[in-house]
Amino acid sequence: MIMNINLIDDDKLKEECGVIGIYSKEENVANMIYYGLYALQHRGQESAGIAVNNNGTISYYKDAGLVSEVFNNNNKLEKLNGNMGIGHVRYGADSEKLAINAQPLVVKYKKGSIAIAHNGSIVNANSLREILEDDGVVFQTTNDSEVMANMIARYHKEEIEKAVNRVMELLKGSYALVLMTENKLIGVRDNQGIRPLCLGKIDDGYVLASESCALDTIGAEFIRDIEPGEMVIIDENGIKSIFNDKWSKKKLCIFELIYLARPDSRIDDISVYHARKEAGRILARECPVDADIVIAVPDSGISAAVGYAEESGIPYSIGLIKNRYVGRTFIKPNQSNREEGVKIKLNVLKENIEGKRVVLVDDSIVRGTTSRKLVKMLKKAGAKEVHLRISSPPVMFPCYFGIDTPYREHLVGANKTIEEICEMIDADSLGFISEEGLVKSTGKTDGFCLACLNGDYPMEIPREEGAFHE
Ligand code: AMP
Repeated sequence: MIMNINLIDDDKLKEECGVIGIYSKEENVANMIYYGLYALQHRGQESAGIAVNNNGTISYYKDAGLVSEVFNNNNKLEKLNGNMGIGHVRYGADSEKLAINAQPLVVKYKKGSIAIAHNGSIVNANSLREILEDDGVVFQTTNDSEVMANMIARYHKEEIEKAVNRVMELLKGSYALVLMTENKLIGVRDNQGIRPLCLGKIDDGYVLASESCALDTIGAEFIRDIEPGEMVIIDENGIKSIFNDKWSKKKLCIFELIYLARPDSRIDDISVYHARKEAGRILARECPVDADIVIAVPDSGISAAVGYAEESGIPYSIGLIKNRYVGRTFIKPNQSNREEGVKIKLNVLKENIEGKRVVLVDDSIVRGTTSRKLVKMLKKAGAKEVHLRISSPPVMFPCYFGIDTPYREHLVGANKTIEEICEMIDADSLGFISEEGLVKSTGKTDGFCLACLNGDYPMEIPREEGAFHE
């Protein structure tokens, strides 16, 4: 039988993606950017790219594929010489445009060349694009970075900082942006800090990255997170900041902490691992159950499962083995073969499961397909009972700000009660952490976008084609 596993999921429109930018006085930065992107690979597997600046000349290479695939031969990295550069890994859903929409985008405008890369989601991008098109601007990609580049180019009479600041005033949405001119590296975090961006130090320069794990990988020292609405400008004179909106309230995407970020990253003073483990502890208190072992859905549920086991006193064990060569690129089947996909990715360690009452911990339920399949596999392997515990509340609303959640009609949390979900996945019991419990697990009391859980969006979503769907 030939199994047809599509690489791309039709109804996913969001771009998670990761960005990095490095400024060094003398060092060649392409290698560091490469390893930084490697550390950010989990944020996007569909394309990768690096642009570097050599005394004002920008060269770049980008293509569809993983970082290691894109830069695997023909000395592509060696050809990228320069002491300043930016890089991007992309997670998109438009299968036919994988290569063309790869970032960074390098353009020439009246003031010279700029390279630009961003992640997140600009919710008014379609309107902005239309305004530009009405003015005769032509686009080569469907990428929002091209919209931003064109907007910046319109303000060519102003210093680049001012031009970027003007564009920030017009952009609505979530983004972390890195931009390189002929002599400056600029980093911007959206006005509500929905997407993360942090700053690190290397010997003779600075690094901007979506997550701190990229700094660790290249031996950079973490300095701080970029603030919401902050623009950081790095050049031969050092580093300075401009605030677009000093008073905006931080709304970090909670899904970065639930699922997207790597557990070894710190975001806005929160250790991702600790928050997930604490969520597991709180979940154990909120939804206790009598059982023999706690197991995790690897890798997403591991930190919370450790916390659940510690708090409940039920031993942590390994019950599912993940094929380590299956990444998120591969496992993106459409609904009809999604269930087969789970089997390819995960297998039961029968020896640990047989005859046991199992607590299965995962970070989230989106469609419910993964859990349903896993419960079935565990029961087939001889589990006496399977109690599913989820370290986030039900995902009930679509994300318009860069997390890949499906339309509302496919979100099981939006359409079924907890009892109905439990019945659908055939678990012996099902428990979700509460919203309060989840926020508490971060060690903070507020400052998060929780829209996917409670529908309270941090800004109005323009009802324009492509941006708004139920
Ligand atoms: P589902 O099968 O649709 O309920 O998906 C739940 C599983 O997908 C969980 O194991 C999550 O860790 C994982 N997951 C959650 N959000 C995402 C996302 N945005 N992209 C890919 N996988 C995700």
